[in-house]
Amino acid sequence: MYAIYILLCSDGSYYTGLTNDLDRRVWQHETGHFVDCYTYKRRPVQLVWQTRLETFEEASKLEKQIKGWTRKKKEALIKNDIPLLKELSKSKISSLTLRQAQGHFDYLIIGQGISGTWLSYYFQKEKKSFVVIDDNKQNTPSRLAAGIINPVTGRRHVEVWMADQLLPFIWKEYNDLGNELGITAISQKNIIDFFPSAQMRLSFQQRVEEKGSFVSLINEENKFREIFNYEFGFGEIDPVYTIHAEKLLPTWRKALLDNSQLLEEEFKISELKIQTGKISYKNISANKVIFCDGVASAENNFFKNLPFAPNKGEALIVEIPDLPRDHIYKKGMMLTPLSENDMWWLGSNYAWEFDNENPTKEFRENAETLLKNWLISPFSIQQHICGIRPATLERRPFVGTHPQFPAVGILNGMGTKGFSLAPFFAKQLTDHLSIGSPIHPEADISRFARILSRNI
Ligand SMILES: Cc1cc2nc3c(=O)[nH]c(=O)nc-3n(C[C@H](O)[C@H](O)[C@H](O)COP(=O)(O)OP(=O)(O)OC[C@H]3O[C@@H](n4cnc5c(N)ncnc54)[C@H](O)[C@@H]3O)c2cc1C
Repeated sequence: MYAIYILLCSDGSYYTGLTNDLDRRVWQHETGHFVDCYTYKRRPVQLVWQTRLETFEEASKLEKQIKGWTRKKKEALIKNDIPLLKELSKSKISSLTLRQAQGHFDYLIIGQGISGTWLSYYFQKEKKSFVVIDDNKQNTPSRLAAGIINPVTGRRHVEVWMADQLLPFIWKEYNDLGNELGITAISQKNIIDFFPSAQMRLSFQQRVEEKGSFVSLINEENKFREIFNYEFGFGEIDPVYTIHAEKLLPTWRKALLDNSQLLEEEFKISELKIQTGKISYKNISANKVIFCDGVASAENNFFKNLPFAPNKGEALIVEIPDLPRDHIYKKGMMLTPLSENDMWWLGSNYAWEFDNENPTKEFRENAETLLKNWLISPFSIQQHICGIRPATLERRPFVGTHPQFPAVGILNGMGTKGFSLAPFFAKQLTDHLSIGSPIHPEADISRFARILSRNI
């Protein structure tokens, strides 16, 4: 059984959480066990509501739902005022419907993954009016990802594309957005890279000797002997960031809902009408529609000719008591701390060929075997998750407006690096639309002008 609970904090705010041991968790909140937790500086806390559900999936879904609710709605739940709860759920939709009936927006954004989140944030900063449509699908890559920003890639640990430009930008922008929302959106957690073979150790050493950026060796071979089994030593990748998407996405969603800027429904492209200089969708009209809908764009008539190469990835959510949470650990796969104490994310794989979105037995077995051989302490697998990355053949994003239909734009193709590319290119797209500044030529979809104009 899993418990979802609400705590009333000393400053009057509410904190919603999920656990499989409620007594222990409440005690941990009360005693300030988690220094990074929202409640730490808001003690004493009081348990004001709880319920229990059978599976982690159901509980996690409800927890996210409640986290996205307004204060009034949470209070209606705490008081068990069901008629008011229903009334409040209705009024959110009707206030948005009212605004739509009254007006015209600058932008309609499809999707509130990490791309749609950043684009709507920058539009807001530019004082543009917009509405986001998102279907609240649970297994999107933005919701499932570990959110790691690793500045090196591949067996040779070479620098990722635009690392020098992206790292300082990301650090500042996620911190700014997190501060605005009152959450920690980004933290630094360097990777301890356990070499799976002598050859990999040699390759890492060579990279260090070549004075490669972001890599170093630590002269404490036995530092992790009590928690991991390893034969070939380890190196460190520094700096590495983790984005707390599990907090950021629902908090931003709630802000949009509270401002009547998000409509929770499936967007149907058959209802989109393109007119001169504007678009309309049902009773919404806007100057432009921007697709931030991940792999769905690969099926859409405007953008299906772009060289998308969707890629399936899986991960396990694992409970590992008392594993030090100040690093990400890597040995073939990444083991990343989640904000829930003792919970870790282990992944991933990269499958280019697949015929469904379901988790596979093969991944689970491989990941479980890896953990059994690597970890000294016991662990228990809580969940097996799977999502499809909106990857592209050239490993570069798709950003800009359609060459034939300037009222239709896209921010997509983030592949394996959505958490670093999305903010950077959302800002470029916003500036491009506002003041006509150029989009990076390797990302600008005008490079596909010919194929985009085919068969529309
Ligand atoms: C297992 C895994 C691990 C990953 N790890 C990392 C990592 O550590 N670091 C990193 O940088 N990246 C990682 N990624 C990649 C990253 O998750 C993606 O690049 C990124 O999330 C893409 O974001 P997006 O907003 O463009 O698309 P999405 O996350 O797909 O968001 C699209 C949104 O549009 C909505 N939508 C789609 N169609 C419709 C419709 N018709 N109507 C209404 N709404 C619609 C969806 O519900 C969704 O909310 C990982 C991906 C996977 C699968």
